[in-house]
Amino acid sequence: MWDSATPLAPLQGELRAVVERVLDSGRFVLGPEVQAFEREFAQWCGAGHAVGVANGTDAITIALRAMGVGAGDEVVVPSFTFYASAEAIPPTGARPVFCDVDPDTYCVTPETVAAALTPRTKAVLVVHLFGNVAPVAEIEALGVPVLEDAAQAAGSVGPTGRPGALGTAATFSFYPSKNLGAFGDGGMVTTSEEALAERVRTLRFHGSRDKVTYSELGYNSRLDELQAAILRVQLPHLDGWADGRRAAGEHYRAAGLGELVALPAATEGSAPAWHLFVVGHPEVERVEAALAAGGIGHQAYYRTPVHLQAPMRRWSEGVELPGTAIAAARHLAIPMSSVLSRAQADEVVAALRAAL
Ligand SMILES: *Cc1c(COP(=O)(O)O)cnc(C)c1O
Repeated sequence: MWDSATPLAPLQGELRAVVERVLDSGRFVLGPEVQAFEREFAQWCGAGHAVGVANGTDAITIALRAMGVGAGDEVVVPSFTFYASAEAIPPTGARPVFCDVDPDTYCVTPETVAAALTPRTKAVLVVHLFGNVAPVAEIEALGVPVLEDAAQAAGSVGPTGRPGALGTAATFSFYPSKNLGAFGDGGMVTTSEEALAERVRTLRFHGSRDKVTYSELGYNSRLDELQAAILRVQLPHLDGWADGRRAAGEHYRAAGLGELVALPAATEGSAPAWHLFVVGHPEVERVEAALAAGGIGHQAYYRTPVHLQAPMRRWSEGVELPGTAIAAARHLAIPMSSVLSRAQADEVVAALRAAL
């Protein structure tokens, strides 16, 4: 946990101190640490409000409901994403409508979203996949509200601001492996619309603001004080870690990785924080074998895209997504961290050069 490969190592003393502070306080759920973290996180991403919830999946369901999504509505969502992006839609009563991605950026485009719009579309869930920043403004120009799934994009910067402040609302996950990770589960909804933030606050606590009257069916989905305190220690370091991840991407580029595999393409005007560094190759099993032989970590996260997973098939009959098929077949995540050195990048590239 505290070895030098983790950027948390230098924060060990501070993290232990805040855990003790929360234990001593006796306040464990939705207290002053959560309030302070909500304020600091909203300010950091440039949104008016941030509301802490239990995890990134709940954040999507609750944000969609706060945006008015319900029974009979459709929500457009890419199929090439983490399963939870789509799984969070049916609990609102709406159905997911799967759209394609650009296999070079792994993100949705105005064209792929436009192809999935119908008169019943209530919102588009735009995923900033792998930390790349999807073109939110261009998609909103299609005339449909955008909810950003920014679970993988903490630390990324888009052409007009940070994920979290680009659409009508945005959701984050603080699952431990994310760029900003708690020591357990956590999530956040951000928005600059006061009424929307207020509805999220109501929904996360059983549909109540005063704990005695209940205005609508809600959820038990709260962020706890320990996680908020731990996240507050990390937030001031997030931009530095994102710089480290971008530098690691540059190490790969300078080492010649682009001659061997397709590098992930940043969307126009964006500076991704590369939550995952995902390369592409038409014979990806050769890349996997080369990395395995070199003892180098690698992972194909979304080989079966979401619309082909069993519970989603009822909503994806006849759906053809050629960009998704290419991305699913060819993608592979290779080692990425804020402290990945040029020597480590050279090692990965050497293992691939020997085999390809
Ligand atoms: C991690 C993740 C989620 C879900 O977040 P949890 O906190 O695990 O519920 C949703 N969408 C994407 C794109 C993710 O990567």
